[in-house]
Amino acid sequence: MNNPSDTSVAKADSFPHIQRTMTADGVCVLTFDRPDSSANVFDRATLAELDRHLNLLEQDAGLKGLVLTSAKKSIFVAGADLHSLADASLDELRDLIEFGQKVFNRLAALPVPTVAAIHGAAMGGGCELALACDWRVASTARETKIGLPETQLGLLPAWGGSTRLPRLLGLPKALELILSGKVLAGQPALRCGLVDALAPKEQLLAVALLRIAHGKPHRRALWYFNNWLVADLLDFKLHRDLKRRTHGHYPAVFKALEVVLESVSSTEIESFAAERDAFLELARGEASRNLVRLFLQTERAKKLSGPDAVPVQRTAVIGAGVMGAGIAQWFAARGLPVVLRDIGPEQVSRGMATIAKLFAEGEKRHACTATEARAGLDRIQPATSEASLANVDFVIEAAVEKMELKKQIFQRLADESGPNTILATNTSALSISELATATSAPGRVVGFHFFNPVHRMQLVEVVVGRQTSLEVVQRAMRFARQIGKLPVRVADRPGFLVNRVLMPYLVEAGRLFEEGARVEDIDAAMIEFGMPMGPLRLVDEVGVDVAQHVTGTLADAFGDRLSTPKVLGWMIEKGALGRKAGAGFYTYNGKSITPNLTVHDFPTTFEAGWLTRPELQWRMVLLMLNETARCVEEQVVETAEDADFAMVMGTGFAPFRGGPLRYVDHVGAEFVVAEMNRLVGLGLKRFAPCDLLRRLAASGEKFYRKEEEHEQHEKRTA
Ligand code: NAD
Repeated sequence: MNNPSDTSVAKADSFPHIQRTMTADGVCVLTFDRPDSSANVFDRATLAELDRHLNLLEQDAGLKGLVLTSAKKSIFVAGADLHSLADASLDELRDLIEFGQKVFNRLAALPVPTVAAIHGAAMGGGCELALACDWRVASTARETKIGLPETQLGLLPAWGGSTRLPRLLGLPKALELILSGKVLAGQPALRCGLVDALAPKEQLLAVALLRIAHGKPHRRALWYFNNWLVADLLDFKLHRDLKRRTHGHYPAVFKALEVVLESVSSTEIESFAAERDAFLELARGEASRNLVRLFLQTERAKKLSGPDAVPVQRTAVIGAGVMGAGIAQWFAARGLPVVLRDIGPEQVSRGMATIAKLFAEGEKRHACTATEARAGLDRIQPATSEASLANVDFVIEAAVEKMELKKQIFQRLADESGPNTILATNTSALSISELATATSAPGRVVGFHFFNPVHRMQLVEVVVGRQTSLEVVQRAMRFARQIGKLPVRVADRPGFLVNRVLMPYLVEAGRLFEEGARVEDIDAAMIEFGMPMGPLRLVDEVGVDVAQHVTGTLADAFGDRLSTPKVLGWMIEKGALGRKAGAGFYTYNGKSITPNLTVHDFPTTFEAGWLTRPELQWRMVLLMLNETARCVEEQVVETAEDADFAMVMGTGFAPFRGGPLRYVDHVGAEFVVAEMNRLVGLGLKRFAPCDLLRRLAASGEKFYRKEEEHEQHEKRTA
């Protein structure tokens, strides 16, 4: 950040993470600038350095004020270093929490005014640092985001955040922020009082220095919000809401609620101790461990790695339907020019209308400004078959799911495009290797499977065909990261990974319905397990006809394990195609979604409701566990970690469980196999456990052996 010209800034001692300078007016500016990194994070070394700065500042009789700022482009302080948290023993964690609290308390106790000048992300520990200051000023830049997202990692703010935020904003607002983990841009942060002033990035430091002249703030005690009556009311209301929303699976929000509510009737010292104890309890729990791992894995997946290739500059999308339009919009929003091609002007303009709508929605969500939306739309060149693809680096086909049609498209693609153009397909289930036989350049053909809706789903399966060249795979992986998606590399097997695991689960839901279970019981069973949506609702969303088509394709490959439930065909005959038709397993009327009673006319095998919800849940879950294990066994994915990650990101598989295979480790392969064998014993052959699960059950091994050793090490040191 530039120093304002009217303050002469004198260089002081140099510290590796936090540089100290003094203005001519006696104000100290501490600038966070972690070496060799684009982010500032708090690890023990950085905290210790801040502590040493405070030693000097406390002794400086001439000190007039302190400003904390960052030299990074888009980060103030991103929070605690999660790697060191994940690796720490319980004693080390306790030490880190107590040390952080001590340092921030020293900052809060300085006799001179202190200001956090926030440009970029001030998350978690970064926000708690700012909360320990007297004033907070923030830049108006889009990069600025302030908040306490700890509960999303199964933790709670424990460097003073759970104590200071309610004292600053009052219980209702503080709880809203802490329990949702929501982060705020400058404007909303100003509106709710989280920051005191906004300034353009270039003037942020000047505005921060001006704040020093305001002296120490005289904050009102927010007694009308922070009293036992409000606390009791909030406890009653929020506890119930959280129970409904989380089904009790996310202990962090309940702990945070308890600690924050108590904080207003405790002394700060008592409240800091409560934060610490709650944090340590949560950090040991399964949910937090899984959520932190997923977060770290997401960060790893985002990193550009592999040989330095020239980034993709120009793209083309063939097919302007639901997926083609979504993909083209995503590319254009990321600054890439796109040729969008379909069979005729009518189809292309329908695609363009979808894209315009997606941009308009993005604008409403503040994902882009009106100018950016217009520029994005301008990057798309609508075209019928004639448009040239010679200069395009990446072309993706998203035409209808028919092998012959796709082959016709691919036959021409190699000749139409340049010699290095990646030829990708968004197919959900067709063989990449077979498709590649249609071209003269099979090495350049790769699957690039987006999920619907493209702008919301982060995962992309990069599908490697028999002849796909390694270079093309690496470039495709890199391109996925370039456009902000999370790639997972999968083998060219029917259904790849995500649909392959999802389908037996959806089919089982259909079968349970045929056996007499009620729609609402089937869906509730899986929501209680932690899925974002019940399986029959999901079938409605995907389309009953599409679900039948995909299961049909997979059934050809997996035979008995995956025969299509008859109810789907029966529903298609009746026009109950799911959400798009206004009726499927549910009826859709504006915002109202209710079970479609007419589907119960389907002749079921038993009386409705004969299976208990736990039994329904177990039957659907077991098939997902088995199929994911099979994908590892058959090397559809390289590691168990990839499989779990893809299932959480691609289907929303209960994130707090860490993925299907972590869940197997948690309940034990022996138990899973015994349960599957029990069902086989009842005549349900599709429950036969795969070899890998059976082997793990027999040997007592786990999918994640190394981590188990680490956990044992932790228990020893606890
Ligand atoms: P869609 O029916 O909405 O769109 C297909 C488009 O392809 C239509 O606009 C059609 O006119 C066009 N088309 C047909 N022949 C063409 C040709 N020769 N050249 C150019 N365009 C042609 O289909 P969709 O749902 O967008 O699916 C597209 C692909 O994406 C399919 O392979 C599908 O399996 C896959 N997919 C779909 C989803 C989903 O949820 N819809 C999710 C992931 C992947």
